[in-house]
Amino acid sequence: MKILVTGGAGFIGQNLIKKIIDEHEIIVIDDFSSGQLKNLSNFTKQIRVISQDICNQISVSVDAIYNLACPASPKQYQSNPVQTMRSSVIGVGNLLELARTSNIRILQSSTSEIYGDPEISPQEETYWGRVNPVGIRSCYDEGKRAAETMFVDYHLQYEVDTRIARIFNTYGPGLHKNDGRVVSNFITQALRDEDLTIYGDGTQTRSFCFVDDLIEGLVKLFEYEGEDSYLPMNLGNPQNINMLELANLVIELTDSKSKIDFLPLPTDDPRQRTPDISRAMKLLNWEPKVDLTLGIKETIEYFRFQDR
Ligand code: UDP
Repeated sequence: MKILVTGGAGFIGQNLIKKIIDEHEIIVIDDFSSGQLKNLSNFTKQIRVISQDICNQISVSVDAIYNLACPASPKQYQSNPVQTMRSSVIGVGNLLELARTSNIRILQSSTSEIYGDPEISPQEETYWGRVNPVGIRSCYDEGKRAAETMFVDYHLQYEVDTRIARIFNTYGPGLHKNDGRVVSNFITQALRDEDLTIYGDGTQTRSFCFVDDLIEGLVKLFEYEGEDSYLPMNLGNPQNINMLELANLVIELTDSKSKIDFLPLPTDDPRQRTPDISRAMKLLNWEPKVDLTLGIKETIEYFRFQDR
């Protein structure tokens, strides 16, 4: 198949391409706002790369689409909130039109952020979430929610073959050291013996999924043709950790002299985030395999290598 990967030069994109490059012809569209061309340096001979914003008209002929085009780090998506919203609404609208007129399958990379600051844990796909519509995270949360609505509407109204992956926090090789998310910040700081910046008191929790596990789930969802394939599917690792524990783990695994610096908690920062993955386990026969300590060790090695 000829597959369009939008946002292909980003963290998830480069790892997805690595996984599917031997079986498929790949076209990447990326505006390089957060993705980097060097992330594709191993594949440049095999893929076609188009530098463009998905909000502009897309004219490619392909057999399927993975839409990964949107910055996912709060630091990055909040730096241009209008563009963040536009890519999830205008950009996704363009891609869905391409899927409708070409009669092809399209997968949306949605996010656990659509649950906002959830009152329940773990979060099942049927939970509607608790989202501030006018806060600093809204451009991403509400944009991604609107994108999910459009995906379901295009399926129900036009029978477009859609998939929605709700991706929880993901980490691993390929993460940029200036990404701004917690795993990247902590490892970068620890390797430099700088203090690790914990926002708030560090009791907030997240569930971190190693990128190889995530990619396996994403491809399985893309290929899934069973019951209710258009409905959202949580993809993440249910293993839970708070930020203080994560900081201590990174300090221990890097053998760092770093201490911890407590900084103010950003507005609307979710208290907890854990996927219920029963649906993915049942329908995709998928669950993450990589333990957090092992995954963090591998990510540390990747970061060390990048600094050389
Ligand atoms: N965080 C932190 N220190 C950092 C970066 C993030 O304590 O240097 C916290 C952040 O406030 C949040 C959690 O780590 O509670 C995960 O943040 P991240 O930006 O990685 O992803 P999010 O799940 O918030 O989108």
